[in-house]
Amino acid sequence: MAESKRDYYEVLGVPKDADDAALKKAYRALAKKYHPDANPGDKEAEVKFKEASEAYSVLSDPEKRKQYDQFGHAAFDGGAGGAGGFGGYGNFTDMGDIFGDIFGDFFGGGRSYRTSGGRSGGPMRGASVRTSVRITFQEAIFGCEKEIEINYKEECGECHGTGAKPGTSPQTCPKCNGKGKIVYTQDWFLGSMQNVQTCPDCNGTGKVIKEKCPKCYGSGYISTRKKFKVTIPAGIDNGQSIRLAGKGEPGTGGGERGDLLVEIMVSPHPIFKRQDMNIFSTVPISFAKAALGGPIRIKTVDGEVEYDVKAGTQTDTRVRLKGKGVPSIRNKAVRGDHYVTFVVQVPERLTEEQREALQRFDEAMTGVSSGGEKHKKRKLFN
Ligand SMILES: [Zn+2]
Ligand SMILES: [Zn+2]
Repeated sequence: MAESKRDYYEVLGVPKDADDAALKKAYRALAKKYHPDANPGDKEAEVKFKEASEAYSVLSDPEKRKQYDQFGHAAFDGGAGGAGGFGGYGNFTDMGDIFGDIFGDFFGGGRSYRTSGGRSGGPMRGASVRTSVRITFQEAIFGCEKEIEINYKEECGECHGTGAKPGTSPQTCPKCNGKGKIVYTQDWFLGSMQNVQTCPDCNGTGKVIKEKCPKCYGSGYISTRKKFKVTIPAGIDNGQSIRLAGKGEPGTGGGERGDLLVEIMVSPHPIFKRQDMNIFSTVPISFAKAALGGPIRIKTVDGEVEYDVKAGTQTDTRVRLKGKGVPSIRNKAVRGDHYVTFVVQVPERLTEEQREALQRFDEAMTGVSSGGEKHKKRKLFN
């Protein structure tokens, strides 16, 4: 993919020495223009949006920008699904929700390019809501769907969000005359000082409700328990979050809803340990199996597999089961490996028959009752 890619500076239309503010400005303009939500079904816009997002995610990170300036796109060709690879987003609408979390929030505090500013009265985006869901180790490896239930705030249908009893309307706050702020003068021994305080009667809104809406008790919102389905991609790790756009708190003044961030908590597995894309486990093998070698069954996340233990395997030998690890979150066809550590077990209790067999074995090794190679063997075992 390296050769067909456009230069990141060219993508954003900024000079090589553009500062952070210029990068952000250029990216926001492009993101707004090409965002999939604004261009439904437009493949070209989607490509342009991804291109701009990728360029910005690299150039806005001083470390990555340095690497890019030095090595170009080759700096991030970590192979398919490699840590630096940006290829294979696959289905954007699914990945869009999580890649913000994976690459750091390059939307700047939750897609803030959509907000129209925080001035009172203007449209304001609703706050993000956080929740979490627990899944099993196996579900994290292969992906799953979970239903979550949250308190979902919606505009009160009775008063349409004003909080005032239907038929009445909020009135200008008499305390601050609708300014939302109170200026008061304090006398000091050296003179007087002016202080500005948010109006306590209207909490800075400039409006007070004389008769509260009986349905929402004046809050303007109704909270209900609501269920959402969360699609959790294969390969997700403990602590990563999935963003459900527009499922957060409602905005005010016509602003859009915030997002719902679902943190994934992965339960530990009794046998498997995970580190990034690899899985580790310990498998006990008998002393005889270690010495003689032969097939054994090993548990993996894909079920049991047969493995041929090599004759003369020592304890703590580690072997690799290729491709039995965790799928890449960006491309589930790419998988890590499963590393197995063999622990050779010495039998603690022996039957008479076993004891005799082992004694004969020992004699054979030390050469007490057999001739020939006895000197060589002694050297090895004494
Ligand atoms: Zn109401
Ligand atoms: Zn007031």
